[in-house]
Amino acid sequence: MTVSHQGTALITGASTGIGAVYADRLAKRGYDLILVARNQDKLTALAKRLSGETGRSVRTLAADLGQKADLAKVEAVLRDDASITMLVNNAGFGAVAPLLNADVDKMEDMITLNVTALTRLTYAAVPGFVARNKGTIINISSIVGIAAEMLNGVYGASKAYVLSFSHSLVHELVDKGVHVQAVLPGATATEFWDIAGFPHQNMDQAIVMHVNDMVDAALAGLDQGERVTIPGLQNGDDWTSFEADRRTLSAKFGHSKPAPRYRVKVPA
Ligand code: NAP
Repeated sequence: MTVSHQGTALITGASTGIGAVYADRLAKRGYDLILVARNQDKLTALAKRLSGETGRSVRTLAADLGQKADLAKVEAVLRDDASITMLVNNAGFGAVAPLLNADVDKMEDMITLNVTALTRLTYAAVPGFVARNKGTIINISSIVGIAAEMLNGVYGASKAYVLSFSHSLVHELVDKGVHVQAVLPGATATEFWDIAGFPHQNMDQAIVMHVNDMVDAALAGLDQGERVTIPGLQNGDDWTSFEADRRTLSAKFGHSKPAPRYRVKVPA
C-alpha cells in the first residue's frame, strides 16, 4: 500500500516509550520525522530502523529540553522548517513521592520539562502552522491531570496545565487550520515508572496498558477529530458529560456581586 506524504512530525521524548511508538506509527502513516531526546545513541538506532522500514526521512536532534540553550535549538527548528506539519509534545517525567518526601529541585525540573518546554515549543510551532493554515499539535497530558490525588502533586499539576493549555489552544486555533489534541494516558508500560519510583511491574496489571495499544488508541482518537483522548476510559459519554458540565459551569463564574453565601452580614 502506498502512503501519501504527510509532511514532517517533530516528536519530543522519541528515544523510548510512548514517543518511540509515535515515531513508528507516524513514519508508517507517511510522516518524515525529527526525533528529539537526550540519548543520541537510542535516537540514531530508532532513526535507522524507521528509515529502513518505511523509506521516510528521519532526522535526530539530541537535546535536553530542560536546558534553555538546547530548547532554543529545537524552537528554532520548529520556527524555520516549513515542512513541519505536526508537533508531538511528549517528553516528560513524573514521580510518585508525596510532598514531604519529594525534592523541590526535582519538582522544579519537572515543571521546566513538562510545562515550560512544552509551552515554548508550542509557541515556536504555532505561527508557522497558522500562516500555512495547517498543523497538528498532540500534547501528552495524563489522567492525573484530572485525578490529581493519584500520584505526586506537582506531576499531576503539570499534566493539568497541559490539559488546560490544550483547551485554550483549541479555542484559539480551531478556525486557523490547526488541530490540537490532548492525550490522557493512564498507567502505560514504559520506563516512566522506573524513573518515577514505582516500576509498573509492581502494579495491578488490570490497569496497565501496553504502550502500542495506548498510542494506537490515541491516534484513532486523532483520526476521529477528538480534542481530548483518554485511551483507558471505557465509556466516552462519561468524558462528554464531564466536559459539558465544565463548560456550563464556566459560564456561571462572572458576577458583579459575591454569591449570597459570602455576603457580609452588617450588624444591626
Ligand atoms: P519514558 O519511557 O520515560 O520516555 C520519556 C521520553 O522523554 C524519553 O524519550 C526521554 O529520552 C525523554 N526525555 C526525558 N527527559 C528529557 C529531557 N530533559 N529532554 C529531552 N527529552 C527528555 O516515558 P513515557 O511513558 O514514554 O512518557 C512519555 C510522556 O507520557 C510523558 O510526558 C509522561 O508524563 C506521559 N505519560 C506517561 C504515562 C505512563 O504511564 N507511562 C501515563 C501518562 C502520561 P532521553 O532520556 O533520551 O532524553
